[in-house]
Amino acid sequence: MPKRRLAIARLWYEANSFSPLRTDLAAFKNREWVSGDAARAFYADTSTEIGGVLALEPEHPDWEFHYLHCAAAPPGGLVQPDAFAEIAQLILDGIGARGWDAVYLSLHGAMATIDDPTPEFHLLQAVREAIGTTPLGVSFDLHAHLSPQMASLIDVTSGYHTYPHIDMDAAAKRALTLLIATAEGRARPKVAVAKVPAIVPSFNMRTGDGPMAELQQLAGLWRRQRGMLDVTVYGGFAYGDSPFAGPSVVAVANKDQALAQRCANAIAREFLQRKQQFFIRLPRPLDGLRQAIKTEGEGPAIVLDPADNPLSGGIGDTPAVFQAMLEADPPARSVFAFFWDPPLVAECYRHGVGATIEAKLGARITQDFGAAVPVRAEILKLTDGKFRNEGPYEHNLAVDIGRTALLEVGGIRVIVTETCQAPNDPGYFRLHGIEPETLPLLCVKAKNHFRAAFSGMARCLVDVDAPGPASAGLFHYKFKHAPQNIW
Ligand SMILES: [Zn+2]
Repeated sequence: MPKRRLAIARLWYEANSFSPLRTDLAAFKNREWVSGDAARAFYADTSTEIGGVLALEPEHPDWEFHYLHCAAAPPGGLVQPDAFAEIAQLILDGIGARGWDAVYLSLHGAMATIDDPTPEFHLLQAVREAIGTTPLGVSFDLHAHLSPQMASLIDVTSGYHTYPHIDMDAAAKRALTLLIATAEGRARPKVAVAKVPAIVPSFNMRTGDGPMAELQQLAGLWRRQRGMLDVTVYGGFAYGDSPFAGPSVVAVANKDQALAQRCANAIAREFLQRKQQFFIRLPRPLDGLRQAIKTEGEGPAIVLDPADNPLSGGIGDTPAVFQAMLEADPPARSVFAFFWDPPLVAECYRHGVGATIEAKLGARITQDFGAAVPVRAEILKLTDGKFRNEGPYEHNLAVDIGRTALLEVGGIRVIVTETCQAPNDPGYFRLHGIEPETLPLLCVKAKNHFRAAFSGMARCLVDVDAPGPASAGLFHYKFKHAPQNIW
């Protein structure tokens, strides 16, 4: 009997509609842009969706796995329409007119382009048109914006159950296992979506504690019910302006649409009841820094600036926390990560290690979040920006943050980079000769994913509220596409 054929493709991108930046094709080509054997090599042994698909392949010897185009870029602003069009076309060309027995897509679910707030919905429509009734399985990020319209195009789905996201591979395995069961006639999944009429920030959305942990527990109870195949609770992405914005619950039940809908509705109701718990007040930068510095114990005191977290659409450019760090008189060997400043990195390369330069840190892209900080800086180290993730978030993935420079400014070591990527992994710091475990104080432009690798070593983690494109207060963002009644 000939083998069955599975098509696999990926488009993963989270768009902050309020970022001043735009994302072009190069951002995808620089991060993930592979297919076929190159995809197999790139994702092998990584905790990513396609890493999960690869791990599942040996369990299905009667299936041929075909890796079509896989593209991802670090979260950022709205995507240039031609970049999305090219990636969508590559995926559709790969699917082509060939007969597949199943199609799997790894999507984020909160992508947006300059002229389309729901490009993934339109990609799903095009894929569905191309494959007819062939089973289609899709996995999504926990911050996806799901809608009944999207679910109507999908046969099976699952998403991350963790935030920080350390189950990307497991989410893909869940979706793919269901997809293969469906294609083999062993399951008849029915998908239901319930929207939560709200937009909630992700500061207090970790799945280890707080309201999201309770919702995950509830979802776990539902998953064990007879007839249920999957339940995923989506938080939505607060800075993504979409008609599908807001949290959602997606339930998949075997043959039983009513059961799936009952489950989704029940958990969505519980989500709405906890809405206020997602809005938390954070200290100002200087207050948070002083609190962190005086905390006693082992390991680094860590101050996080989530308002400029690149994984929420931050721009690596806001100066408030660095300015506060200078004022707080931090202990020697403290580290600040990071400023995104390619011209400054180039200047450091021209001068070389050991030179002292005059520089301005921050506010290179916009002064909306504060003025640049003029400094005298010694160049301590230059790197090529290449390392592999050591922590559980996207474990073992090869990372390239472009060239970087490590500067010393008034006793503080400052990392400056050529690309805008979150300093979420210990490997990022070891690349610069910094052992994060030994630091007295570490200030980072990061949020919850950072905690996956660092909460175990830190003596405290303090989120502060500084001006930035992804700040805790959502009230000053002007949504155009999100339904009026939810923000
Ligand atoms: Zn996410």
